[in-house]
Amino acid sequence: MSQENFISRDLAEQIHSKVGTPCYVYSEAVLRDSASKVLAFPNAFGLTARYAMKASPNSNILRFFASMGLHFDASSGYEVRRAIAAGIEPQRISLSTQELPDDFVSLVESGISVNVCSLSQLKRFGQELPGEKVGLRINPGLGSGGTQRTNVGGPASSFGIWHEDLDQVKKLVEQYELNVFRIHSHIGSGSDPDVWIKVVGMNLALVDQFKSVTHLNLGGGYKVGRVEGEKTTDLQVIGEKMKAEFKEFAAKTGRKIHLEVEPGTYLVANGCSILSRVQDETSTGEEGYKFLKLDTGMTDNTRPSMYGAQHPMWVVPADNSRRGKEDYIVVGHCCESGDILTPKAGDPEALSPRTLKKARLGDYFVIGGAGAYCASMASKNYNSFPESPEVLVREGGRVAVIRERQPIEQIWANEVAVL
Ligand SMILES: *Cc1c(COP(=O)(O)O)cnc(C)c1O
Repeated sequence: MSQENFISRDLAEQIHSKVGTPCYVYSEAVLRDSASKVLAFPNAFGLTARYAMKASPNSNILRFFASMGLHFDASSGYEVRRAIAAGIEPQRISLSTQELPDDFVSLVESGISVNVCSLSQLKRFGQELPGEKVGLRINPGLGSGGTQRTNVGGPASSFGIWHEDLDQVKKLVEQYELNVFRIHSHIGSGSDPDVWIKVVGMNLALVDQFKSVTHLNLGGGYKVGRVEGEKTTDLQVIGEKMKAEFKEFAAKTGRKIHLEVEPGTYLVANGCSILSRVQDETSTGEEGYKFLKLDTGMTDNTRPSMYGAQHPMWVVPADNSRRGKEDYIVVGHCCESGDILTPKAGDPEALSPRTLKKARLGDYFVIGGAGAYCASMASKNYNSFPESPEVLVREGGRVAVIRERQPIEQIWANEVAVL
């Protein structure tokens, strides 16, 4: 299932006159639809659905999802602070981080929960907060992901406590009388459903090792199709299979485990497009390519350059002229040869021409599937381009600005003049 373009020329003109281009355009209707699907995740004994906020952390998106009943996964102490500043109750925030912040004690005291992600984190947690409730993020020894860079389980991944270190974990838990209430595992983004089911079994085996555990968090990583040929995970299908595993576990052990899931991508990926404009073109002759140059690029979306990620793209003509088709390499506006928006799938070094409507300078150009890890992972201020604005298209059609374009002075505001 590939994404449709939800930005018509009328809407593009309206947004352009309000904040200019480039701009992230979120659709409230699409966000609501994906959140409803996550909240309907099949479960045997209760569900907490979290939004992995690193995918796109604008406070309006956090509040919107909170209003629908979602909780939150934060991946740094700063994200916790950001969510709290957005008005999210600390009780709804869980922290799983590669870098346990110095102020984790005060964050826990405010009400958040923590999944420790390494033996040293477990030790620090125990020393500061003996007897406290804690979650354990375990690397089950099996990973899955769209690419090696999004695979966060298995021996090549540093995320979580290695599954063979459980004896050391148990020693520390005993030493500090910690109450392990949650097992957590997140094995990668873009995982296969079959791998998912395997991982559920491995995780329930871990739950079996810790009698105090009441919650199993299976992370995120549900696949989302952005372009033709990519599949979107059917949550009902994998959820029903998981539900059966939880029931079987309860029948065997008498323990009714509460399920947690925490997708990022699934909730926002197709809920946002980047609205840009074609600002130049060039060609490199018979043996070469036709290039379209946009007023956006890696400053707004690094995924193509990092992973060879594929995004749907549409030329939205600024006039009513008839257009044929043309094969283009679409490039960003940075002086950086890697700023390519149409790489070969999975290979950011190679070019893959895209057949698009013939474009003219000044046309609108829409990049779809830009809700997850685009605004949050942009190479902000490279070439001193300001951070782009974000707008939300409300369900009634009204366009609300949820972030202004960064004023240029802010780019150097923290510099200290000593020369
Ligand atoms: C990033 C992350 C997620 C979300 O992953 P998606 O692939 O965006 O669904 C969930 N849990 C943790 C711990 C993460 O780090």
